[in-house]
Amino acid sequence: MCLYSSFLGLPDPRFAGLSPKPQYAESRNFKTTHVKIELDLDIPKKTVSGVCTTSFKSMNGKSSLILKAHHFKLLYVKDTKGKLLKYTYDDSKIEITTDAEADKEITVVIGYKLQDPKLGIYFVGPDKHYPDKPVQVWSHSESEDAPYWFPTQDLPNDKSTTEVVVTVPNNLMAVSNGTLLKSSENKKEKTKTFHWKMSKPHSPYLVSFAVGDFEELKDKWKNVPVIYYCQKGRGDDIKRAFGKTPQMIDFFSNKIGVSYPYEKYAQVAAVDFIFGGMEHTTVTTQTDDALHDERAHEEAKYFSEGLCAHELAHQWFGDLITCKDWSHLWLNESFATYFDALYMEHERGNDEFLYELFQNAESYFSEDKEKYRRPIVTNLFRRPNDLVDRHTYQKGSIILHMLRNALGDKLWWKVIKNYVQKNQDKAVETLDFIEAIEDVTGMNMKKFFDQWIFSAGHPEYKVLYSWDAKTKDACIHISQNQTSDTPLFSANVKFEFTTRSGTKTFEELVEQKEQILTYKIDSEPLMLRIDPDNVILKRIETVKPLAMWIFQLVNDPNVIGRIMAAGEIAKYGTLKESEILGEAMLKDKFWGVQAEIAALLGQMKNTTAMEYLIKGLSLKHPAARKAVVAALGEFKDPKIIKDIKPLLDDKNSYLVPAEVCRTLGKTKDPSVEPLIMSMLTRASWLDAIRAVAVDGIAHLKGAESIEFLKKYSEYGNEERPRFAAIRNLAIYGKGRKDVLDTLVALTEDKYTLVQISAADALGELRDERAIPVLENLIKDDRDGRIKRAAEDAIKKIYPWLDTDIDSYRASIEVRRELEQKDKDLAAAKRSAEK
Ligand SMILES: [Zn+2]
Repeated sequence: MCLYSSFLGLPDPRFAGLSPKPQYAESRNFKTTHVKIELDLDIPKKTVSGVCTTSFKSMNGKSSLILKAHHFKLLYVKDTKGKLLKYTYDDSKIEITTDAEADKEITVVIGYKLQDPKLGIYFVGPDKHYPDKPVQVWSHSESEDAPYWFPTQDLPNDKSTTEVVVTVPNNLMAVSNGTLLKSSENKKEKTKTFHWKMSKPHSPYLVSFAVGDFEELKDKWKNVPVIYYCQKGRGDDIKRAFGKTPQMIDFFSNKIGVSYPYEKYAQVAAVDFIFGGMEHTTVTTQTDDALHDERAHEEAKYFSEGLCAHELAHQWFGDLITCKDWSHLWLNESFATYFDALYMEHERGNDEFLYELFQNAESYFSEDKEKYRRPIVTNLFRRPNDLVDRHTYQKGSIILHMLRNALGDKLWWKVIKNYVQKNQDKAVETLDFIEAIEDVTGMNMKKFFDQWIFSAGHPEYKVLYSWDAKTKDACIHISQNQTSDTPLFSANVKFEFTTRSGTKTFEELVEQKEQILTYKIDSEPLMLRIDPDNVILKRIETVKPLAMWIFQLVNDPNVIGRIMAAGEIAKYGTLKESEILGEAMLKDKFWGVQAEIAALLGQMKNTTAMEYLIKGLSLKHPAARKAVVAALGEFKDPKIIKDIKPLLDDKNSYLVPAEVCRTLGKTKDPSVEPLIMSMLTRASWLDAIRAVAVDGIAHLKGAESIEFLKKYSEYGNEERPRFAAIRNLAIYGKGRKDVLDTLVALTEDKYTLVQISAADALGELRDERAIPVLENLIKDDRDGRIKRAAEDAIKKIYPWLDTDIDSYRASIEVRRELEQKDKDLAAAKRSAEK
């Protein structure tokens, strides 16, 4: 049986192009058994001297060994006895002719130099614009950037043990995978050498190092050292962000049934890290954005603890068990995303868990609606990086939740244990997971996987409910209304009726285009809940009386049911409904429901809604208060200034005062300008206040803020205010050549994330003059996210493009020809009329 070769669903052309070519993992003649990478860093010059000694076992007797190595200055390729080996090198691949025989071991030693690598290794340090920036050097390799810093076959399934030996100036420290075998100082050279060894095999993209003037904090889980590294002076902040790591290791070890599998677990908070976190085996690199002070903790913990749990879960799902090739990336990312949510369920309870999954689903729905629809597993993609999206992360997490519900908790955890035990230290594809389920449960889950993993989309239900008082029949008409390219779904759906005398639940297999279901109920239901636990990934529109929604708003024990009820009530839009929602917002015990209702009141924009929102400014949870302030921004009314002004000094939050800046700006009242300007000097977690103050000024002054925005977009400002400035330049600078030039220059900024943000902004400008620059961004050695942002920008400039970028040139030609034909036709018509 091979599901993988018979994909059921195709991604739409916006994802993979009009005639996508299937991607297959490369074959290899050799299996890597051990890699030793020795690096000597010259940080001021941004050069690396490297020696990479790799042992291979020949698999098929073929003599050609191909190693990827991008832009290396190769010094030599030899064997361990020093004999030079024959090779060719074309700036990206070293092809070595070996005397291989099947099962024979060979070792190859490659000496090389790197000059400021474009990817793979990142040098961070002070300059005249950022004099306080600490010196750090760190690596990042997923998906295919390892060959920018060491020669490797670079296949996720080519697992081996590794050693990383790094020589750095003697005031710095180098950390890497596994155990520190030795550190030694060379007093004469003023250097220190750190020698790390990883004794369990892992994939090339998980090999890593990080260098800095680190503070090292030690904790442990059982006998496993748990270590935190951060810039000196931030020890308290990193403990606040990641201090729950031992509890998380304990939770995952117990639940998965396979103890944390490695010799240590370290987290390095890296300055200017280009991702949230990266699960390098035993030594995760985390963004230092997660570090925060006491005041930020209540709002920052959602980010830092979520990140911590996600990357830790990867040590099992990703590192111990690795997707065989990138088309099965969900086996890494959906699992890490779902296990993060599972830890939150354990730590913070069911409401927070359900709300996290709800947000995951919403995040997937918006990608599905605005960008493309694709199966979670597909080999129709252009770059592995394209799979790093909300289908792989968020949608996959919901599918795992559905699977857990389908199996029941006891079997689910048995399956997970079986899957991990059976596949540890191996590379897997989706079939291995399906087999692990079948092994334990005897259940054939192929249909489930065909529907949710190998096909695209989700059910879109419409439900019409009616009650016959005479016969006491509750009637439900349910239909599936997804577009024709998405097949009908088959799912067991629960229908729960609540009457004065209690609750009754029925379960039905819903799989047809339309189904009519009738139930005898003792008296008219007060509440009808469909899929009451909100397990199924779906869109649903239910037509039932307003009174039932109002009852549900207060009485549904499930937070998502209350949120959905609020959404339906808001559609009625009168003062009465605003009052009902306002009361519910003030009384609900969960902040997520409060925040969602606040947003709805903001959309209702009537006087009652405003009154309740002003009362809501004293809600306890900072995220709820922030939502209230944002909702008040929708009114754009100077009347609210006096009410929100005191929250600029909210002592328990940074995000609330930040949001106040934006809402003040939206009032367009000139009197708020000095207030917002004064907030530009406030220090805060993530520079959130300064960033949103930039936003506030942009809202306040519109096109008149361009010079201000240009100034804040410049290199030398903090990153987040720069993002805010760039975003607003695109909104208020349309048609302006100076704004176009500013954004174009920013696509070559030193910071990857600024480049991405500038490419996004060029798309928003919708100015054809940006096209040549955007095309260049797609070509070179660049972060895949920059390429994707540039492609998305081109699609925004040419909104009629319904294909991928590879075929867009042809589309432009066709369009121009058509336009020319139209013009010729019109001209001919005009001359005929004369
Ligand atoms: Zn991840």
